[in-house]
Amino acid sequence: MTVRDVVTRFAPSPTGRLHLGHAYSAVLAHDLARSAGGRFLLRIEDIDGTRSRAEHVDAILADLTWLGLDWDGAVLFQSTREAAYAAALGRLQDMGLLYPCFCTRAEIAASQSAPHGPESVYPGLCRGLSATERAARIAGGVSHAWRLDMARAVALTEGEGLWWSDALAGRVRADPLTQGDVVLARKDALASYHLAVTVDDAAQGVTHIVRGVDLFAATDVHRVLQALLGLPTPLYRHHALLTGPNGRRLAKRNDAPTLESVRLQGGDGRALASRLRAGPPGIGIGRQNA
Ligand code: GLU
Repeated sequence: MTVRDVVTRFAPSPTGRLHLGHAYSAVLAHDLARSAGGRFLLRIEDIDGTRSRAEHVDAILADLTWLGLDWDGAVLFQSTREAAYAAALGRLQDMGLLYPCFCTRAEIAASQSAPHGPESVYPGLCRGLSATERAARIAGGVSHAWRLDMARAVALTEGEGLWWSDALAGRVRADPLTQGDVVLARKDALASYHLAVTVDDAAQGVTHIVRGVDLFAATDVHRVLQALLGLPTPLYRHHALLTGPNGRRLAKRNDAPTLESVRLQGGDGRALASRLRAGPPGIGIGRQNA
């Protein structure tokens, strides 16, 4: 008997084929739900209309079935969730926490003196624009994203003490200021990952989030959004990332072999899932904050 029914999810972005790292995440999330008699959901994170492909969705469904994983209920597609994201953005807007950002990637890069990694923090170029300037640019059709004013957001939620619990890391104090003024509404997509994932995990009643440790810091952002939007905070399990023989994390950009390629060569998906459950020899599992 659990305090609340366990609901987990696997939430891939259909911007490429799945690899072994995805399989590991999916198996862990699936088994957590099944071992508790709970529900395992599948959500397709296709907010990015230019990079998402139906053929990737088909391959994802086939891969999961091949691994022997079954999910409960209908698959939720984020491309159908525009109204929910707009409602959340409207609430944050009403709280005075969003500002339009007109910057291009090149402008942001040029403003940063030191070399930064992909997770570099937005330098706040558009935060100080006057209301008149903002209105003029929007009226002039300059494309813009909407960013969260993180300092204000944190000031507003400070009293609540932003904590979250991780099955492996323990109790974690969220430090969203380190993530800066993240984008919540993108120029080219319905919403940003941060907004969509927070809204949807709550809407689907997800109680346990299982995902790679590369998203550990993102949880700080999700935690502040939960506080602002009055959403529950799930329990988290940020698992280690699988690494390839070269010691690098498996990722699309590192040319990790796809599950589909193994499946089409006649590989045994259920046996692969069992090996992942056991912590397989020959596959390094490294804890990294990539
Ligand atoms: N859609 C994200 C990805 O494919 C995962 C989201 C999550 O698990 O929070 O990387």
